[in-house]
Amino acid sequence: MKLAARTTRIKPSPTLAITMKANALRAEGRDVISFGAGEPDFDTPYNVKMAAIEAIEAGFTKYTPVGGTDELKDAIIGKLQLDNNLTYRRSQIAVSCGAKHTLYNLAQALFEEGDEVIVPSPYWVSYPDIILLSGATPVILETKESDGFKIGPGQLDRAITENTRAVVLNSPSNPTGVVYSYAELEALAEVIVKKDILVISDDIYEKIIYDDCRFCNIASVSEEMKKMTVVVNGVSKTYAMTGWRIGYIAGHEDIISAITKIQSQNTSNPTSISQKAAVEALNGSQDIVAMMVREFKDRRDYIVERLNNIPGVNCMNPKGAFYVFPDVSSLYGMSCDGRKISSSTSLAEYLLDEANVAVVPGVAFGNDDHIRLSYAMSMKDIEEGLQRIDDAVTKLTAS
Ligand code: PMP
Ligand code: GLU
Repeated sequence: MKLAARTTRIKPSPTLAITMKANALRAEGRDVISFGAGEPDFDTPYNVKMAAIEAIEAGFTKYTPVGGTDELKDAIIGKLQLDNNLTYRRSQIAVSCGAKHTLYNLAQALFEEGDEVIVPSPYWVSYPDIILLSGATPVILETKESDGFKIGPGQLDRAITENTRAVVLNSPSNPTGVVYSYAELEALAEVIVKKDILVISDDIYEKIIYDDCRFCNIASVSEEMKKMTVVVNGVSKTYAMTGWRIGYIAGHEDIISAITKIQSQNTSNPTSISQKAAVEALNGSQDIVAMMVREFKDRRDYIVERLNNIPGVNCMNPKGAFYVFPDVSSLYGMSCDGRKISSSTSLAEYLLDEANVAVVPGVAFGNDDHIRLSYAMSMKDIEEGLQRIDDAVTKLTAS
């Protein structure tokens, strides 16, 4: 079958692929523990589910305006004002079917052949492919663990060419969990304003943040910086609403109207019922979010300590999101029963075959020295999964 060239430029989402594989193995009867996709294990809050049920019963089941209802846009405007001190009008907001869809629409609206978009690595798996689908080129800017997995102003400055259109910032980060401070964002903003490029600020893990860390959006650095920022967010992670598919964007009116035009020719509006649920998530009590974050923090503390006790595994303490990204490169070159570990992929395969544990190889995020484990799962599974990893790694011997 002849397919369009764009289908060969990209790969299927590795995070979703690994989760599907773990599910398929479970269906075959294998007792697999999956640290795969980042999807909160909590149920969607009761008040949010009730809002959706009420929407169905009230017959709110028809098309809505393409870019979302005014009610939801107002809830988003209220949230951005209250949490981020950022002021937007309705014409500066568009709602899509999840933040991934928002990012896809955004890339379609902004980029084309010849454009370059800077993506700091380790990056969330979908950024490069979403950029490739627009025809533009992702320019990967490597960061090291010793630099806290963050880009600095000098590095960003050097990476910008006359073709650079935008840089993607994701704080707290998937997969590293690092969080940029206000001062670090201020330093980056200076370069961004000078070079006149856009920032795509993916704030999806904004609320999942630990210790003394505070979330800051680069748009809040100055009015000038706000004009050059598009803020992407959604309800999937904060409110355990991954299946409801609601993401949104705030930014320049021209960008919003282009996105809305594109969306009018693909999905039309996001699901009417999910929009009602998202209004309740944003406007209703936020107590449940604090409860989930407390639980995630306990899991993080446990998993980081446990991983660091496994010889050959080195795990940085993430400040946000629900992933750990341990360095496992000391295990490369070791083997078990003639099976050699030489990369994050071979380690992930070994853990799945030998220990019935699914993890995502770091190479999917642009760093082959690491693997990613999501801890958006029960403590019981985390404990059991880590014991299995410990046992499997202990079986490895220098060869
Ligand atoms: N951005 C990042 C960094 C993510 O990890 C995810 C994961 N789903 C998304 C965006 C997209 O989220 P969703 O489409 O569920 O809103
Ligand atoms: N964002 C989550 C992850 O990184 C969910 C899967 C996906 O969309 O990539 O695991």
